[in-house]
Order: sequence, then structure tokens, then C-alpha cells
Amino acid sequence: MSNKADIELAAERPRHPEKQHLPDNPPRRKPAWIRVKAPTSPGYFETRKLMRDNDLHTVCEEAACPNIGECWAKRHATMMIMGDTCTRACAFCNVRTGKPAPLDPNEPENVAKAVSKLGLNHVVVTSVDRDDLVDGGAEHFAQVIGRLRELAPGTTIEVLTPDFLGKPGAMEVVVAAKPDVFNHNLETVPGLYPQVRPGARYFASLQLLARVKELDPAMFTKSGIMVGLGEDRQQVHQVMDDLRTAGVDFLTIGQYLQPTPKHHPVVDFVTPDEFKAYETMARGKGFGMVAASPLTRSSYHADRDFAELRRRRQQQPQDNADPRGT
Ligand code: SF4
Repeated sequence: MSNKADIELAAERPRHPEKQHLPDNPPRRKPAWIRVKAPTSPGYFETRKLMRDNDLHTVCEEAACPNIGECWAKRHATMMIMGDTCTRACAFCNVRTGKPAPLDPNEPENVAKAVSKLGLNHVVVTSVDRDDLVDGGAEHFAQVIGRLRELAPGTTIEVLTPDFLGKPGAMEVVVAAKPDVFNHNLETVPGLYPQVRPGARYFASLQLLARVKELDPAMFTKSGIMVGLGEDRQQVHQVMDDLRTAGVDFLTIGQYLQPTPKHHPVVDFVTPDEFKAYETMARGKGFGMVAASPLTRSSYHADRDFAELRRRRQQQPQDNADPRGT
């Protein structure tokens, strides 16, 4: 039986008409280590009101993130810009697929005002995929970063971008706007891309991360994968090696959770001990920061982890050396 938080989060999930032709995969019962408490704190409701009042979307809600009660209680939310409708239909993702609305020109201002009101030390800004736009939305990302610098100068900025596949020059526009962290998730191992992330290319995503580091070696780069989709340990270790070769500083690994019966099934619930083993392996491979646990998401504890990553680099820059020597 689902717990109360599951029920409340499920009630807010958007429907997925684009996935109605897919077979049902009834969700598996979650193990005890995945259960989360229902969001009830005053901070949670204040954060929710602020998002509504400013007409903002968050990936916390759209992706039905299990950490929303904890994060929003601390006023930590991940802004999702460029609307709530994505041009891709990844098998793991709860965001609606369809024809997106035109960009909201007030969004950079509204995001920056909300972040300023929340008083965040660190903000994560992500987006839906906008393959319909000539630049994939890169200029809009840059405008959001620019307004954040003006209205929330004390806030460090992390962008979690799409792959900008087939959009030459787009990633360069975002890098030129100088976010503190450039995050792009690989999401899964390359062998599962056809089923899990059919609109994307593993090596294009890897190349994007490598290019960010080439363009600005001082910029922190970050990527993440979900486990439990049917990958094996060797494949995960190979992803770690690929990311280190691309000079990526920070790796996140979390358990995939199936949002609805129309999504990819959970193949395994990876145990906390197995996550610990992944974390140990990743640290050994030289990542400056690793977060690996069942509830890790790329923005979970992003403020704390970024502060720690920056402190470590300042103290021991040689420990986080780029293996390509950049
Ligand atoms: S982990 Fe990220 S997506 Fe989930 S609630 Fe926290 S900030 Fe939002």
C-alpha cells in the first residue's frame, strides 16, 4: 500500500495522453528505505504559494519528486523554465509531452524575484526540452541567469540544461552567461538509451559536458544518472569513467521511481549498501563530489553540496584535477 505522501503527490500528477498507447507496468511496492513523509510544514506551503503567485513551474512538482516535503520546507525549489510541456517523451519522465506555449518574456524577472524572496544561497534552474525553438531556449536560460545576477546577487546559480541536440552554438550561449554550475544529466547507461531516452544520444550528452569544461575550465560541471532501470554495475562504472574523461566534477546517482503505470518499470530497487559502493567507486575515480543514495536527485541538497565542492577545490585543487589536463 502506498503511503500518504505517495497518494498526495500522485493526485497532482499531470495525465499522459501521449503515453496511452504504451502497455501498463503496474508500479512495484517501494522498499522501506524509499518511503517519504507527507509534506505538511509551513515552509512547504509558503514555497508553494510563492510559486503559484509568480506563475512559476518547478521540477519538484512536475516530476513528482519524493523529496518535495523536505526541500520545500527549507525553501529549496528547482525552477523549471520555458513552460510545463516538453517536446520529448522520455520513458522515465513525468513532465507532459506536447506542443509547448511560446516563451514567457516575464519569466526571467519572475524567477529572479521569487529567488530573491526565497533568499536562496543557491538556485537550480532547469527546463523542459524545447526542440521547437531555434536555439533550444539557450538565450532564455542566459536571460534568467542575467536577471538572477541582478536581483539575487548573493545566490549561486546552477543550470540543469537539455542536450541542445541539433542546436549549434546553444550551449555556448549558456556558458557565456556564466552560471556557477553547468549540469546536464546522462540519466542512464548508454545501452538503455533506446528505451529510456530515445530522443537523445549518449555521446552527444557526454560531448556537451566535455565542451563546457573546454570553454570554461573553472566552471563546475555536474551530471547524474538514475539506477534501477535495468543497468548493471559494470555499465555504471563505465559511465563514471566516461564522465571523468569529460572532466565532470560532480556525480549524482539516485533510484529511478516509476511515476505512473505508463512509464518505464522499476527493474531493481538498489539497496543503500549498493549506493554506498557506487559512491566509494566514484570517489576513487576522482570526482570532486559524489552524491549517491536512493533519494538523491540532481538538485537534492545542491546548495550544501556545491558549497562543499567549492571549498574542496579551493583547499586542494590538485585533488580535482581534470584528467585531460585542462
Ligand atoms: S530534490 Fe530537487 S526536484 Fe526534488 S524536491 Fe528537492 S529541489 Fe525539488
